Amino acid sequence: MNITQLTLTETIEALKRKEFPEEDLNKAYLERIKDLNPKLNAYLEIVESKKGIPAAIKDVISTRGIKTTASSKILENYIPPYNGTVINKLLEQGASIIGKTNHDEFAMGSSNENSAYGVVKNPWNISKVPGGSSGGSAAAVAADLCVFALGSDTGGSIRQPASLCGVVGFKPTYGTVSRYGLIAMASSLDQIGPMTKSVEDAALVMEWISGPDGYDANMSSEKFKVKNEKLQSGIRGLKIGVPSEYFEEGLDPKVKQVIQDAIKKLEELGAEIVEVSLPHSQYAVAVYYILMSSEVSSNLARFDGIRYGKGRDQFGAEAKRRIMLGTYSLSSGYWDDYYAQAAKVRTLVKQDFEKAYQKVDVIIGPVSPTVAWDFGAKLDDPLAMYLSDIYTIPANLTGIPGISLPCGFVDDLPVGLHILGKFGDDMTVLQTAYAYEQATDWRKEKPKL
Ligand code: GLN
Repeated sequence: MNITQLTLTETIEALKRKEFPEEDLNKAYLERIKDLNPKLNAYLEIVESKKGIPAAIKDVISTRGIKTTASSKILENYIPPYNGTVINKLLEQGASIIGKTNHDEFAMGSSNENSAYGVVKNPWNISKVPGGSSGGSAAAVAADLCVFALGSDTGGSIRQPASLCGVVGFKPTYGTVSRYGLIAMASSLDQIGPMTKSVEDAALVMEWISGPDGYDANMSSEKFKVKNEKLQSGIRGLKIGVPSEYFEEGLDPKVKQVIQDAIKKLEELGAEIVEVSLPHSQYAVAVYYILMSSEVSSNLARFDGIRYGKGRDQFGAEAKRRIMLGTYSLSSGYWDDYYAQAAKVRTLVKQDFEKAYQKVDVIIGPVSPTVAWDFGAKLDDPLAMYLSDIYTIPANLTGIPGISLPCGFVDDLPVGLHILGKFGDDMTVLQTAYAYEQATDWRKEKPKL
């Protein structure tokens, strides 16, 4: 048996049946990390865990006694004195932290090229980006360097790298998972979520990490519970919306074909496909870059050179760019024209979804307009980079849940299928994803390393 290829649910079963001890499990993963991490740069910090189920944690989530850098020079020597809520919850379930994963500095980016500690390589082709910002977590799952990982998603940072690396990535409904201990990027958008080898694993990790803790004022009072009968109940009669705006110019025709094939598959499985319209989606990227950078400029003010040791000159170029943009859009005289306007259009984007969800149960489309691209290809053109999040951002603006799961390949690189749900209806997203995953074999493909 190849221990490191097992999913989380398979690993738990195998441990229960005593097929191997936890020590062997940790050893197998650590050996693989030692072998492959120099090539991929997915981990910034490796923890020699001996017991527990090895989980990889994005380095933007605080871990007691383990260095947490946010992939920034400004936090180069920061060792948190406390755990984020999600970490305590994972440890209670018998998981262990096997390492902290690389990502774009302060979670700002779509390609991992903004990390202060070097790029992460895409396991499917090491000349390509892994996506971002949670590229290290995505690469660690894809390359079997952990059983599962956690990422954070502010504008797509779980779903887009999951898509580019061929793994499952789930952004829960805003308020399902506590942000306590997550180094804040944009507080009205940030949400932690699982990155896994299967949909069932994503559901299980959600159950582990969700629920109120008294530290995040925006939490829903309900804990997410996996309903297995519902997860496995199929999608006969389910109404799936396809937004015309998600298939227009900018979408790579080959990616489009793969998504259309996936839609056909869902129809074969008994779902009813309904065309829907999300007319304000075209403004989502612009709205996001005003609201997000405004919140960034406020959140990053705490790194003032007094509390965390290093000075603000240690911020990378992208962090500086966003602090300046945000400070500008919040300054008096401009606030009305930028921040206030963007907040209004955010409501229009939300109303589009509410209207569509009167007709359908979930909405599907692509996660990313293209598959993974070459290093450097979009580095000199921030706008081109920002546009790569065009399909993922609306879920953050509106707080709704969304998943990316493998649905095919273009030029030997993975393509992710995007399933978005109603606010609070994370279960139907997982149910749809599960039905698709069970009916296809994409998840079983592995990169050759
Ligand atoms: N790529 C987006 C950005 O650069 C999203 C980041 C995120 O979700 N953390 O802002």
